[in-house]
Amino acid sequence: MIKPVSVLYKPRKLSYGGINLEVQGFTPAQFIYFTEEIAAKKMSAWRPRGVVLHCTAQPDLKTWDEDKPKRGIDEVQRIANMMPRWANAGFKASPHLFIDREEIWTATPLWRKGTHAKSFNATYWGIEIVGDFTRETLSDGQRDLVVTAAAALYAMIGHEPTPQNLKYHREEPRAFKPCPGNIGPKEWWDKAIEQRMAELFPGDDYRPGLTRA
Ligand SMILES: [Zn+2]
Repeated sequence: MIKPVSVLYKPRKLSYGGINLEVQGFTPAQFIYFTEEIAAKKMSAWRPRGVVLHCTAQPDLKTWDEDKPKRGIDEVQRIANMMPRWANAGFKASPHLFIDREEIWTATPLWRKGTHAKSFNATYWGIEIVGDFTRETLSDGQRDLVVTAAAALYAMIGHEPTPQNLKYHREEPRAFKPCPGNIGPKEWWDKAIEQRMAELFPGDDYRPGLTRA
């Protein structure tokens, strides 16, 4: 059982080409506190209905992990390095979360619309699972972090995931890539996230103070 622990929200603010990010790494317990006590209170006009799962592909997991000790590129720098690519592609924002094997990293704030999948940007958060899962294997530990993060997000909007409001990027009609790779059937994620929500937020009132959609 993950118990929320309080955390100060002191993100690194990064700006490039009109894209503004607030980058901070969270453990699962910190992330639950962050969504409940900070992000939920900042939500205003933009109301997403679910999550789109992606994998970063570039960088892959090997590069992401090895760059830290070898080349001194930490997670914040790693995300900063992707900003020119997004800006050149005309993106106004980024995906919302980057989840590696240790932490859940924020990028575009959860209370603002992100850029990650054309047809889904308007109404979905985008989660990037760090790795290229057409070639790499998603570990149980990293998978578990993604489940917890998604459970916290669905709890924030007051409903469970369904096959309709939990998406893989490749469901995007114009998607040209196999994103998020081989991460297993969507039904598995749907169920795992639901179970995690029941563990973390017993009862059907996932978030006191937030009205159900
Ligand atoms: Zn994608």
